[in-house]
Amino acid sequence: MSKALLVIDYTYDFVADDGRLTCGKPAQAIDEYITQLTKSFVADGDYVVFAVDVHDENDAFHPETKLFPPHNIRTTKGRDLYGALGRYFAQLAEKGLPDHVKWMDKTRYSSFAGTDLELFLRARGVNELHLVGVCTDICVLHTAVDAYNKGYRIVVHEKGVASFNPAGHEWALGHFEGALGATVIR
Ligand code: ZN
Repeated sequence: MSKALLVIDYTYDFVADDGRLTCGKPAQAIDEYITQLTKSFVADGDYVVFAVDVHDENDAFHPETKLFPPHNIRTTKGRDLYGALGRYFAQLAEKGLPDHVKWMDKTRYSSFAGTDLELFLRARGVNELHLVGVCTDICVLHTAVDAYNKGYRIVVHEKGVASFNPAGHEWALGHFEGALGATVIR
């Protein structure tokens, strides 16, 4: 059995000061932690999946169109990974991503919704998911709920998640532990 790190939506639009749907400073503050954790997973040969929102502008059929300003629009820099993590990813990509590192587009909050994530993980015997990224109480939460329903062991890194909503962030951390049986590394 093996483990995988899911790095969720750590992109320019969700993190940078002028990102289109930014979590701002709390998200920028976790860059170093996420980058170091990602490096250690890659170095150990554990799986890493960058799960990254993609949208088309003014998509009349997408539920988020009514809820949020346009963000992570296909082919824009808003979808680039942010900061030190972005620079590290660029280095990796330049040489060609190793087989145990995957970039994965997603169109919903949960990394499992409409993606091949579950097939990828099951084929490789992954039973433990480590979650980092943004927002704690939206995309990280919905991914954790699906992971729970699918029977994965869940580990959430408190220093690796952030939200624009401090109350939502705190509530989600409690929910991971109390309702999803996750280990929250404080
Ligand atoms: Zn979105």
